[in-house]
Amino acid sequence: MSTKWILTEFLHPPIVWEALRKEYRMSFPSNLDQLQVVVAGIRTQASYASKLSYYMQQQSENFFNTAGILASLADSWKTADPGKNGGAYFFLDATQSKRVVVKEFLPLDTEICIDDDAWRAYTATKKWHGQDHDRVPHWFSVIPLSRVAKGPCSACKEDQPLIESYCQTYDSPEGDVWEKNSFVFCCDCTLLTKVATKVSDNRIF
Ligand SMILES: [Zn+2]
Repeated sequence: MSTKWILTEFLHPPIVWEALRKEYRMSFPSNLDQLQVVVAGIRTQASYASKLSYYMQQQSENFFNTAGILASLADSWKTADPGKNGGAYFFLDATQSKRVVVKEFLPLDTEICIDDDAWRAYTATKKWHGQDHDRVPHWFSVIPLSRVAKGPCSACKEDQPLIESYCQTYDSPEGDVWEKNSFVFCCDCTLLTKVATKVSDNRIF
């Protein structure tokens, strides 16, 4: 395989696969030397197909993961104990210090608790303590999408929303471990660009 193809392979395996199939299109061999060339050619394609299959498997995992995170971004504020059983995902305000809820992603009739009194009155109506809430807690600001923190995507360099996730990675009486990650979420590239990782013994980082 040429150097040009090795480079392209890294970026666009499906395109290289098509090109490789064209280059290795061979007639049925008519002598022993040709037969060996054809066998080597078919083996090269088999080896490339195996690499492509691994690449597509990774793409599949990446796409399922990305879709799950995008869905969670609209839902994490509802969770009674965010990050306890899997990652909680939030947009950040422009200062990148506060998790926020985006107005455009709230169902139209969603009620927002404006202060502690409103929140307490609401939680008193819950059937049980750990029940998810359907009103936005007062500690989240509800802001328009245009005002969330952004950062550059590592692939297309365009500014895209900056996301923060946190989850408990270890749970014990001696101490817990929480991990917080921030990353740029680009839908155009279906790519998450990691910006920072922090570890803490408390969910309040
Ligand atoms: Zn991008």
